[in-house]
Amino acid sequence: MMALDQDCIFCKIIRNEIPNTVVYEDNVVKAFLDITQGTPGHTLVIPKTHVPDIFAYDADLAAAVFSRIPKIARAIKASDPAIKGMNILNNNGKVAYQSVFHSHIHLIPRYSAKDGFGMRFTDNSAHYTPEKLQKIATQIHQQFSAD
Ligand code: 5GP
Ligand code: ZN
Repeated sequence: MMALDQDCIFCKIIRNEIPNTVVYEDNVVKAFLDITQGTPGHTLVIPKTHVPDIFAYDADLAAAVFSRIPKIARAIKASDPAIKGMNILNNNGKVAYQSVFHSHIHLIPRYSAKDGFGMRFTDNSAHYTPEKLQKIATQIHQQFSAD
């Protein structure tokens, strides 16, 4: 752990070189409030090693980081009875809205359908035959043989 990048804003947060409001920290992850507070309690969980995105994780790092998520999520939920649910998001790549290239997981508490946070899933099922779905699945499945 702890291979940090001099110029990375989240590595600076790990080193406390810039102010941050920590909600949980151990030897593997740091969890701190997102500056924008999409909803109250919006938290980022970051590995304490500079890894740009999910594509760069190995299995050990993934196990270590993701194993922390449920207890942090539970603590956030328990902190306010008004929290009814939570969106957990991980953006990878600029096209997927990633803006900080030190991997992070958003924990976004949800208070109501009108709490200001939204996501849109498009239903394109009418454009997909079973054959088209199978072709896509096969193309992905074949990649595992390269491992
Ligand atoms: P992304 O868009 O990459 O998924 O999320 C990056 C998040 O980092 C954004 O939600 C943004 O508000 C947050 N962020 C960027 N800079 C800082 C900072 O200096 N401090 C904190 N606490 N959050 C930050
Ligand atoms: Zn970093």
